[in-house]
Amino acid sequence: MKLLLLPGDGIGPEVLAEARAVLGALALPGLEVGEAPFGGAAIDATGVPLPEATKAAALAADAVLMGAVGGPQWAGQPYDLRPEAGLLALRAAMQVFANLRPARLFPALADASTLKREVVEGLDILFVRELVGGVYFGEPRGIEQLPSGERVGVNTQRYAEHEIVRVADTAFALARARGGHVTSVDKANVMESGLLWREVVTARQAQAFADVPLSHMLADSCAMELVRNPRRFDVILTDNLFGDLLSDLAAMLTGSLGMLPSAALGAPGTPGLYEPIHGSAPDIAGKGIANPCAAILSLAMALRHSLGAPQAADRVEAAVGRALEGGARTRDLGGSLTTREMGAAIVESLAP
Ligand code: NAD
Repeated sequence: MKLLLLPGDGIGPEVLAEARAVLGALALPGLEVGEAPFGGAAIDATGVPLPEATKAAALAADAVLMGAVGGPQWAGQPYDLRPEAGLLALRAAMQVFANLRPARLFPALADASTLKREVVEGLDILFVRELVGGVYFGEPRGIEQLPSGERVGVNTQRYAEHEIVRVADTAFALARARGGHVTSVDKANVMESGLLWREVVTARQAQAFADVPLSHMLADSCAMELVRNPRRFDVILTDNLFGDLLSDLAAMLTGSLGMLPSAALGAPGTPGLYEPIHGSAPDIAGKGIANPCAAILSLAMALRHSLGAPQAADRVEAAVGRALEGGARTRDLGGSLTTREMGAAIVESLAP
């Protein structure tokens, strides 16, 4: 198995160094770990944010773990030569259409949530958001001028059946693997694209995943339920727009930005792209105080979903939980540990 690390910019290299330390402690046989320049660091070295060699290495890997990209020093670059454009190009090249975002509460952080402990304790939701279609990409789009001179902003929500099938299959397979159920979220009451979404998801479940319980929910109800009774959910399958909003809402129930991992998956057998939700945090970069948990938990997702090492993934997640139980906290969690000390606390908590 091959894992490619893309440390990137700002706190990216700082948090990936701790993911590397965890990998070192796991000492997984047969795992080859490489590294390549990406983002602003690649612009400085080669003039472009996604060098051809980096792209080729990503496509040849089984999993890619990214730190973060971007920073004020590259803000003046032309749009398609900015670090963030490199990330969009990498996602497009890897054809990752399913965005996985866990909203999982570590018991030690229950009191850090904005919701009451009894509402969020034990929360473990996995969002599967369609990532490359829908209203963010649909045509026609633009700002048009009517003959009257008034302007109209246009975006188009559009889903073809195959786009729904592939992300639904991902959600059902993940729910099956975790012994859970799927809630598919749409606006079938007012949108034809939602009606088709519901039909196709229902048909896929009947065809190939009859053992995985499925229910449907309207997106507005889902927003309410996520705050009222979030533990009723297991896997939430939804489109690009609703997934963007609802996964942010749910993630924040569970604590700091520094705790949140993500994955983007394509067709089975193709490499997955794993990254913390947070950015390069220029305000704290270089100070050694960033929380490495999101990067380490992203590594755990890579181990589980792309590198065929689910037990190692469980070990890493349990180690993060144990380190937090033991009181290990970086500043964003109200503690005083450095990035390296937090990484070391997690490595020490890795059970054999
Ligand atoms: P950010 O996520 O970098 O930071 C937001 C706030 O959260 C900051 O105060 C930061 O210090 C804090 N924070 C973030 N991660 C943390 C961590 N691990 N530990 C402790 N505190 C943490 O978002 P931003 O400031 O809006 O963006 C900064 C740069 O990152 C921009 O150039 C943006 O384009 C880029 N960005 C990149 C990605 C990515 O690489 N996927 C995602 C978001 C933003």
